[in-house]
Amino acid sequence: MQSDVVIIGAGLAGLVAAHALIEQGKTVTILDQEGRQNLGGQAFWSLGGLMMIDTPEQRRMRVRDSLALATNDWMGAAQFDRPEDHWPRAWAEAYLDFAAGEMRPWLHGLGMRWFPVVGWAERGGSFADGHGNSLPRFHITWGTGPGVLKPFEDRAIEAEKTGKLQFGFRHRVTGFEISNGQIRGISGDILAEDNAMRGAATNRDVIDQFTLQADRVIVTSGGIGGNFDLVRRNWDASKSGPLPDKMVSGVPEHVDGLLLDILQDAGGQLINTDRMWHYTEGVQNWDPIWPKHGIRILPGPSSMWFDATGDRLPAPCMPGFDTMATLHEICRRGHDHTWFVLTQKIIEKEFALSGSEQNPDLTGGKWGGVLKERLGKGATTAVEAFKDKGADFVVADDFDTLVAGMNDLGGGLIDPARLRAQINARDAQIDNPFTKDAQIAAIRTARNYLGDKLIRTAKPHKILDPAHGPLIAVKLHVVTRKTLGGIHTDLDGRVFAPGGTIIDGLFAAGEAAGFGGGGYHGNNALEGTFLGGCIHSGRRAGRAAAG
Ligand SMILES: Cc1cc2nc3c(=O)[nH]c(=O)nc-3n(C[C@H](O)[C@H](O)[C@H](O)COP(=O)(O)OP(=O)(O)OC[C@H]3O[C@@H](n4cnc5c(N)ncnc54)[C@H](O)[C@@H]3O)c2cc1C
Repeated sequence: MQSDVVIIGAGLAGLVAAHALIEQGKTVTILDQEGRQNLGGQAFWSLGGLMMIDTPEQRRMRVRDSLALATNDWMGAAQFDRPEDHWPRAWAEAYLDFAAGEMRPWLHGLGMRWFPVVGWAERGGSFADGHGNSLPRFHITWGTGPGVLKPFEDRAIEAEKTGKLQFGFRHRVTGFEISNGQIRGISGDILAEDNAMRGAATNRDVIDQFTLQADRVIVTSGGIGGNFDLVRRNWDASKSGPLPDKMVSGVPEHVDGLLLDILQDAGGQLINTDRMWHYTEGVQNWDPIWPKHGIRILPGPSSMWFDATGDRLPAPCMPGFDTMATLHEICRRGHDHTWFVLTQKIIEKEFALSGSEQNPDLTGGKWGGVLKERLGKGATTAVEAFKDKGADFVVADDFDTLVAGMNDLGGGLIDPARLRAQINARDAQIDNPFTKDAQIAAIRTARNYLGDKLIRTAKPHKILDPAHGPLIAVKLHVVTRKTLGGIHTDLDGRVFAPGGTIIDGLFAAGEAAGFGGGGYHGNNALEGTFLGGCIHSGRRAGRAAAG
């Protein structure tokens, strides 16, 4: 397995780094603890949303974006506040330049295309200089996650055929040999073959060991979201309280984060490990692929959001506005679930589910299917399936039956009269063209955007008006997903040791490196910046490792 460079992790970041290396004439070995069926890692399951700035897709939707506005949004979201944020901030600036410049033409040249309606993710909802996207910038790739992977996966497989690249599947790295400030090699276990379907948990039976001499190694082993022990250990409970006892997992089990500790023990530096990005609108998958499989609802703005006892969450904790503020609010309140209350009209227009397999129309990339699913009658087929079969959904023709169902699922914590009074108060504001209800104001603003009006925001209506029913309640769980901190690197992806020296020959990229530098999001993400960050950091690290 001798080659110029060894990459640990066959996810998006690893494949992009390999592409950059092969372009520079280097030979590459990619090791992964999973089998070939998992090539592409998490990105395969992703929705394929990319944050790009001032694109033709935005302009066609009458969205006027700029590097200056995106930078203001990013810095307001990141709130970089630590000395070790020096390199992460530099990575953020580099990504913003990339996303406003070279990114789209380069990816377009590689064959990627985007759904014409640009999504408005993570809207913030507090201050103009605080967290959130001032406007839509979430570009969903045709073919979703598999569509993002395809150019890099195809090129890797082509390079394998010509001997420029070799894969070592079922090779789990467990050690780094570093001496005199230089990487010398890696070692690990060879795991038994496993034919489990893509994404499912695989065995950890060790059948042999390996060692590999290497003076150039790129770590792209992903984050920690599939390892609840690590997630809980790294979460800073002093800010708002511990994470809920019951959570669901938004990533496959191989996102285990174990290599990060191994790298730290070997002399590499991790920073910002307490920064994470877990969603608050998770539901248990009725048809799970990986253990504790949770799906994130990508909600439009109209569902009312209540805590486990039936108290409405305050702004900015509104659907799709401020993930981290909502997560902290949930931890502060100390229950493991919250509730959306909505109508059939809202679910039809506003519920999307994250993940390639939940969006077969977009993943298939055929216009006919997309128009039928997105503009046809009813919710999408995947959403309807959750409504029918999901363990967290209550559907009822009248309010009392709805609350009885919620109390069955949620431990009897909700007082029907108190819940009804809050919904009635909100409903009364629908008749008020002025309104003091932050969520009603936000719904009206959303409908000023053509894309939201077309496919994402229901016409404002009263929740308790039976004409828009039946009523629906969804029990929501925290769904673990992304790791914002990670391996500390400079702008070439070169890994730092504690104290600020570089470990020669050792590089890191993708989620393992906090998508750049050890956490280029800072404290909050604007979405589409994870896949985008893997592409950007994988390319930079690959080019730098090519020397
Ligand atoms: C359902 C879902 C939807 C998403 N949607 C979006 C979206 O729309 N937009 C967006 O920006 N982001 C999205 N993301 C996030 C994004 O997909 C990930 O952050 C990104 O793909 C991570 O890529 P990576 O290459 O860094 O890591 P991974 O994809 O996790 O790959 C790491 C690889 O390293 C291997 N590995 C780990 N440890 C070892 C070891 N010790 N030895 C050998 N191999 C090892 C793993 O098996 C894995 O194959 C989504 C994620 C999911 C799961």
